[in-house]
Amino acid sequence: MSFRALWIEKDDQPYRCSVRDLDADQLPAGDVEVHVGHSTLNYKDALAITGRSPVVRRFPLIPGIDLAGVVGRSESDRFKPGDRVLLNGFGVGETHSGGLAQRARLRSDWLIGLPAAFDTRQAMAIGTAGYTAMLCVLALERHGLGAASGEVLVTGAAGGVGSIAIALLARQGWRVIASTGRPAEADYLLELGAAEIIDRSELSSPGKPLARERWMAAIDTVGSHTLANVCAATRYGGVVAACGLAQGMDFPATVAPFILRGITLAGIDSVMAPISLREAAWSRLARDLDPGVIERVTSDIGLEQAIGAASELLAGHVRGRIVVDVNK
Ligand code: NDP
Repeated sequence: MSFRALWIEKDDQPYRCSVRDLDADQLPAGDVEVHVGHSTLNYKDALAITGRSPVVRRFPLIPGIDLAGVVGRSESDRFKPGDRVLLNGFGVGETHSGGLAQRARLRSDWLIGLPAAFDTRQAMAIGTAGYTAMLCVLALERHGLGAASGEVLVTGAAGGVGSIAIALLARQGWRVIASTGRPAEADYLLELGAAEIIDRSELSSPGKPLARERWMAAIDTVGSHTLANVCAATRYGGVVAACGLAQGMDFPATVAPFILRGITLAGIDSVMAPISLREAAWSRLARDLDPGVIERVTSDIGLEQAIGAASELLAGHVRGRIVVDVNK
């Protein structure tokens, strides 16, 4: 039976992505087959679809690092046909065909059960972005910080990770400072729970090794000079969770904030995170994320529109999260 998918090819012709009808034998090996309900567009998916960065490392390939759906066929003891499942990362959409398709064939040890609180659309509105935001929150907690600790900064605030991080932190009672390059999104950020908005230009240029102490914690999705300046302005004993590189992969910092203020830089990786941590993050999302927030941050598109939306996302024009209904 054929199914629709985004299909990335690179051969004697240039890199390209199109909507195609594929056959099951074009899927990779795996012990579980999933009827995908929804997928999403993350920053990494946009890089893969446009070919802007070498995210895809095997061709041809279906992009999509996230998917939620129902098991159709299973050779695994962990899942049976009819089970609702969720996948984030593990190299899917990079080296193994992914979620931007009506079917996926996957390794069962990459999957977790879809939390009962969510349908496939809601899970994909959260997606890797929201799950990563929760991994950042868990990292702050692991290092002993909570809402009573002081203020928290979120950079890349109007993006997917940033939007959900703001909502999660505000709900816990943190006073959230949102850093954005889009002042026009101020109302959106305040609605999500930000208490103060700063312009990202305050943080994006080369700065001093140490700056005035401003926040006790930070979630940084931006990297480069922004991350260096975020660390330089973190209060004594504070924690910065670093998960992104929207400004750049470099980290032009000094050791001063670490050895003079005892701050901690916590690295966050969603792709290879162990199943136990994924399950912990998703059950906290089910408990802590206001369902109203999901609606506020999400726009919905079909598979055909995903290619154009990828360029919009990289151009910084997308607010919050995009859900892809692969059957539309
Ligand atoms: P989005 O594109 O949705 O958001 C990124 C945001 O970063 C933009 O909305 C913008 O926010 C800000 N931004 C963009 N360009 C620049 C720039 N040049 N300088 C400063 N800020 C900029 O992406 P996601 O939220 O999905 O992902 C954010 C980052 O986190 C990405 O780098 C992504 O690769 C990474 N990531 C990492 C994961 C991990 O496992 N470590 C998992 C998921 C994502 P604003 O308009 O508010 O300024």
